[in-house]
Amino acid sequence: MEEKANFVDMRRMMVENQIVSRGIKEKRVIEAFLKVPREMFVPEHLKECAYQDGPLSIGEGQTISQPYIVALMTKALDVKGGEKVLEVGTGSGYQSAILAEIGCDVYSVERIKKLAIRAKKVLKELGYNVKIKIGDGTLGWDEFAPYDRIIVTAAGPDIPPSLYNQLKDGGIIIMPVGDRYFQDLILVKKIGDRMEKKNFGGCQFVPLIGAEGWRDEEEL
Ligand code: SAH
Repeated sequence: MEEKANFVDMRRMMVENQIVSRGIKEKRVIEAFLKVPREMFVPEHLKECAYQDGPLSIGEGQTISQPYIVALMTKALDVKGGEKVLEVGTGSGYQSAILAEIGCDVYSVERIKKLAIRAKKVLKELGYNVKIKIGDGTLGWDEFAPYDRIIVTAAGPDIPPSLYNQLKDGGIIIMPVGDRYFQDLILVKKIGDRMEKKNFGGCQFVPLIGAEGWRDEEEL
């Protein structure tokens, strides 16, 4: 598919003005952001806004996260490629694409069927082999556990225990922990039977983890 040149320019400006200028300089992260066409992950009528410095509506009351938040969480995950990563909250599929571009083996769970199906389709079109399941991501995805990394892209009151149980020794979970109005980006590391917690700082509103929305679990 021929890509419009102005999206390439917008992408370069997004990386410079929103990501690098705010202190994210990791080469792998930057390269992935320069490659993944964010406009493919937003609704048709919002394509021209895809590179704005904020979240955008993707329907079903959900959003694609702000580019900087995606970059910050990706940096916090500390991936080099080759890690098995579980994502909770596929949404648009953009975060999955960034991780797949870095070379991670991505498993993603989304509770809203329509979003999961659309994300799977876009990812496939772009050549990313991301495994997606419709279901409650707070329960993880036991079948493929344990994971090297777990990224939760919806906020919740605490790290769900099932996710911690599905994490490998030495693994990392990153998740916005808080309420509807304010969250801290919390990084948890599993070191043997010790849990190390670090606060990555406050972050802006992200959607809350929902407790309903799916009927049957289904792998796409
Ligand atoms: N990573 C996404 C951000 C999506 S916003 C992106 O790059 O676009 C958070 C997503 O989490 C929403 O799509 C929401 O439906 C989903 N979600 C919320 N609670 C969930 C749960 N318990 N299980 C799975 N997905 C959930």
